[in-house]
Amino acid sequence: MTVNNIWVITDDQNAVGELCDGGRQLGKQVSVILFSDQNRAQEAISSGADQVYLFGQAGESVMIEDYSKSIAELLRAEKADLVLVYSSIRGKLIAGRIATQLGISVLSNVSELTVDDGSIIVKHMVYGGAAIRTEKALTDTVVVTVGSGVFEAMPKDAARQGKVNEINPNVDNAGIRILETRPKQGELVNLSAAKRVVGVGRGFAAQEDLKMAEEFTALVGAEMACSRPIAEGEKWMSKERYVGVSGVVLKPDIYIALGISGQIQHMVGVNHAKTLVAINKDKNAPIFKQVDIGLVGDLYKVLPKIAEKIKAQN
Ligand SMILES: Cc1cc2nc3c(=O)[nH]c(=O)nc-3n(C[C@H](O)[C@H](O)[C@H](O)COP(=O)(O)OP(=O)(O)OC[C@H]3O[C@@H](n4cnc5c(N)ncnc54)[C@H](O)[C@@H]3O)c2cc1C
Repeated sequence: MTVNNIWVITDDQNAVGELCDGGRQLGKQVSVILFSDQNRAQEAISSGADQVYLFGQAGESVMIEDYSKSIAELLRAEKADLVLVYSSIRGKLIAGRIATQLGISVLSNVSELTVDDGSIIVKHMVYGGAAIRTEKALTDTVVVTVGSGVFEAMPKDAARQGKVNEINPNVDNAGIRILETRPKQGELVNLSAAKRVVGVGRGFAAQEDLKMAEEFTALVGAEMACSRPIAEGEKWMSKERYVGVSGVVLKPDIYIALGISGQIQHMVGVNHAKTLVAINKDKNAPIFKQVDIGLVGDLYKVLPKIAEKIKAQN
């Protein structure tokens, strides 16, 4: 059973497809709130939106969170059943503010969302990924923050028709104004969209050894990811590339883990992969309990041999 009136709010255009797809699975009509322009609005319609409410780009000193009161008024007037907010930093702030305006709470960072007999049921990880909590929403409007990887984006359909409503919002006086913006330092990588991912862990003894993994990743046409210690501890790779409960959640066709032990905090980010492969020299490594294909061996010996075989077949 579905609910009627689904709303999507995102400040990141990359998330529109996934959230619209989720909205279409759960409800009848999907309305999207964007803070960008007509082109992006049309893109959202191609991605599954029935209508788009364009709040435009915030003025130079105005933050999009400051539209929260206007957004809440719109959601109230349109009797929104479920509001899916992309869980970016801005998204979480907007979710909190609109929920406050509506006098309800936010269900945050959900990993699964279903509708059961007209009620919205969410699951999310607790205790650092060691357990999953299931919650049933009891309010008429439900606000949920959703990260990437929870839903899968459907292919765009340029022929889809929808309505674009331009909104001239009131700006809340939240007491904060933007003084300066600078491009984010870091990599632009959308791991959640990758179909093949190679993950590297502490089984690599030195940063220069990652070259071997990079070559292998290129050979199999994959994106490279890592465990948290490789990004946060060693700082050998950027934070955007670590996978898990506090990193990115993936949904690839195949995930190949190289020298990764398989702790729960990492595995929650990859266990939606269609096929899981691991190479680890310890036959008792926890990762072997979860994989489809496990190879016990020293990655420094095994990986070059696999690469040779693949090259010979190409
Ligand atoms: C609150 C919290 C949140 C966390 N969030 C995340 C998260 O989002 N993502 C994440 O990844 N981690 C997270 N962690 C950390 C997590 O618990 C693990 O510590 C981490 O995933 C381990 O990384 P690893 O597998 O690379 O390293 P290790 O656990 O040290 O494992 C290295 C593996 O490499 C193998 N190995 C060593 N040498 C070789 C070789 N030559 N050939 C083959 N195999 C070899 C070893 O047998 C071992 O199994 C979190 C922890 C906490 C407490």
